[in-house]
Formats: sequence, C-alpha cells, structure tokens
Amino acid sequence: MRHVAVIGSGPAGYYSAEALQKIYGADVHVDVIDRMPVPYGLIRFGVAPDHQSIKAVYKRYEKVALSDNVRFVGNVTVGKDVAIDELQQLYDAVILATGAPNDRPVGIPGDDLPGVVGSAAFVGWYNGHPDFVGLAPRLDTPGAVVIGNGNVALDVARILSKTAHEFEGSDIVAGALDALQASAIRDIHVLGRRGPHQIAMTPKELGELGHLERAAPRVDPADLPPVEDDAALDPGLRKSVTILRDFAANPPVGDKPKTIDFDFFAKPVRIEGDGKVERVIVERTKLDESGRAVGTGETYAVECGLVVSCIGYRTPPIDGVPYDEDHGRFANDEGRIGDGLYCVGWARRGPTGTIGTNRPDGFAIADLIHADFGTALSRKSGRPGLDRLLDERQVDIVTFRDWQKIEAAEAERARDGSPREKFTYVEEMLRQLGIGRTT
Ligand code: NAP
Repeated sequence: MRHVAVIGSGPAGYYSAEALQKIYGADVHVDVIDRMPVPYGLIRFGVAPDHQSIKAVYKRYEKVALSDNVRFVGNVTVGKDVAIDELQQLYDAVILATGAPNDRPVGIPGDDLPGVVGSAAFVGWYNGHPDFVGLAPRLDTPGAVVIGNGNVALDVARILSKTAHEFEGSDIVAGALDALQASAIRDIHVLGRRGPHQIAMTPKELGELGHLERAAPRVDPADLPPVEDDAALDPGLRKSVTILRDFAANPPVGDKPKTIDFDFFAKPVRIEGDGKVERVIVERTKLDESGRAVGTGETYAVECGLVVSCIGYRTPPIDGVPYDEDHGRFANDEGRIGDGLYCVGWARRGPTGTIGTNRPDGFAIADLIHADFGTALSRKSGRPGLDRLLDERQVDIVTFRDWQKIEAAEAERARDGSPREKFTYVEEMLRQLGIGRTT
C-alpha cells in the first residue's frame, strides 16, 4: 500500500489522484486535502461562471473522488492545521497541487489606490470565493481598465459587460450579479503592452466579445500588422488575430451602450487619483528585435475608477518548501521538490496552459512517484495517522459526502436556470453540516 497526500483539490490535484489510481490500482490511498470545505479549486473559483461547459469537467473529478481509495479532506489548512513535515512523516509522497491563487503585483506607482484590484480577487469575487466576497469592486464609475492580453483579461472584460439576461444559466453569485447589473461601467479599455501578434487570447474566448448584447469591441486598424504577416503565426493565434481584424473592420453597431477598446502597444506606467483611482497613465510602446515592449516616451491618460490587473498569478510559498521567486512557483525539478515532496500543475510550472494541461502533468507526477518508490512496502501510517492528528487538534474534516450535502443545498437555492447559488462564507458551508468553524 502506498499513502499519498495531495494538497489542493483543483484540476492538478484530481488528475494526480486519478493517475495514481491508474498506476497503483487498489494499492494506493490518496487523501486530497483542501483548506476549503468545497472541492475543485480553480473549477469552482477561477473558471468564469458563464462558462459552464468548461466547469463540467468536475464530473470527472467527482468520479475519482467517489472511488474507494481516494478521499476528500476538506476544511484542513496545511501550514495551520497540519504542517508539511508532519504530512511527510505520515505519507510516502506529498504532492503540492496548490495552484497559483495570488495576483502578481502590477508594480507601478499608484497600484495600491482604492479601485485597483487583481484578477484573482476580482474573479474570486464574482465566483463566490470566501476570501473575496467582501471585495466590493468600484463599479459606480464609467471607466474601467483591464491590464493584460490573456484569457483572464477577456473573462473580466466580458463579465463587466454582460446583461442579466446574458448571465442566465451561469452560476455567478447573486451579490456580484446584482452589483454588476447596477454598475455604471461603460468604457472598458483592455491594455496590452505588446501588439495583436503577441496576445495570449484564444479564439473562442475572444470571439465571444463580438456577440455581446450591450457591448462592442473596438480595435484600431492602425495597430494591426500587415495581414500577410499573419501567415507565420500558429493556427490558434492566427484565428485570434483574424477576429481582431474583424473587430477593426466592423466598428461597433451604433446603439450598444458599452465599448471594449483594445489598446495595443500600451503599457501602464502610473495610476493616479486623489485617494482613489481616477486615471491610468499609459505609455505607447514599440517592439524591440526580441519582441519585448519598449516605451516610446509618448503617454496618454485613460480616465477610469476601476483597474483590474490580469497579468498572471503566483503560488503562495509554504514555510520550509524551496521556492522559485522569479517564477512565483515552488523550486522543483520536473515536479520533484525533495524527498517525498512533489508539486504539480500551476504550483510546478506557473500559471499557463488549459485545464487539460494538468492531466499529463498529473500522470507525469504519478510516474515519478512510482519510479521513486517502486513497489516497496510503505512504513507510513497515512490516513489513520492524519485523522488522529486532526482529531487531537479538534479540526472538523469535511468529507466528499459532506460536500455533496453542501452541493445539494446550493442547487436547491439556485436562481431559475442556474445550476447553483454558492455559499460564499465558509461558516455558511459548514452550517449545512451542523459543524462550526475551527478557527
Ligand atoms: P496569461 O495568458 O499569461 O496573460 C497575461 C497577460 O498579462 C499577457 O498579455 C502579458 O503580456 C500581460 N502582462 C504580464 N505582465 C504585465 C505587465 N507588467 N504589464 C502589462 N501587461 C503584463 O495569463 P492569464 O490571462 O492570467 O491566464 C492564465 C492561464 O489561464 C492561461 O494559460 C490562460 O489561457 C488560462 N485561462 C484560460 C481560460 C479559457 O480557456 N477560457 C480562461 C482564463 C484563463 P506579455 O505577453 O507582454 O507578457
């Protein structure tokens, strides 16, 4: 028998559990530990609420979670309720699948003004993450700036633009939906420090902006490289650039009250305002030979009261675990951090790739563990050891069956057409189970 603890119940965590099952069959016990009483990490709290088809991948994780040798251990915070080195004493392998939930700071003057939020916080807010339920982003202002040219920037611009009707069928939390419907935002600027050929936006997600009920995307044709240069792009990027060309060629249909302007070659250099955000000062850029953005010295101001930076994420460090500061992830060699300690997914490679990228990642880590341990007998206590420890510390574990009770309660109180109305406070989640918070 092999005992493995996976920390984090998002895609990387469950794909790792699934891969371990495939390799070891019944000879492995996997405990998937999460600080939340609810599973699925990024699927629940990161994937946009109007992208239910992407979220549906949870059904695959549910199958893994319900199998005999995989256990969900929710409501347990590693580093507080149990230390990493304690887990290492209890399990043959500990896999950090903690994702990258912290925002990379923008790092320009004024980025601490009220009205500036990171995408982890903003996305967490509309997705009902208990850490961000009280965010109250400034929406009583006509202008919003979204920094970044990746898919998260598209999510944020789209969510800021949609009508209540367009949110039908989504599981956006009621508080965010109400706030967004009352929002005054109508001029959204998406800032890319480089050009259309350097975007990290995928065609499906970019194309959605062309079909919004009340918002129209705008691209300045002058920013687009000669069309013949598109031939050198990989097919996905070429499709995205073609969509931008379409946005440029078909300026917004007249009566849409909101606009989403793509400002390319536009690097934010300063955020200004008297006690709160009033404008972003943007420097025009050009690309150097290596494709990097260099400032031209020419600046302009974008008036706004809200700034959402969507420039990537970092994995939170854990005491005693080697950390790669430059990349904001655990220091690792192909997923191996040290003896019996591994990382997977965004915690291993940084915040890139799709949800599906975590599947091969999970298999790679399971293979590595198998190679490291072979079939030698384990001398670790695994589950019973963890249960004893948490029991002594009076930590209430939330099991997968418990989660299913929370899930049923969320489904029951859902708006018409919505799959669930999430509980946004941990206490509310635990109340469904008749247990109090341990903190
Ligand atoms: P991303 O794809 O890495 O994009 C980050 C963007 O921020 C890039 O355009 C980058 O520009 C820009 N940036 C970085 N530092 C900056 C700075 N200091 N100033 C201005 N701009 C800066 O990251 P993401 O959008 O957070 O997405 C993370 C991952 O999740 C990606 O793999 C993404 O595809 C995935 N995702 C997928 C979906 C979906 O499939 N529906 C939805 C959301 C997220 P440079 O290129 O110049 O560095």
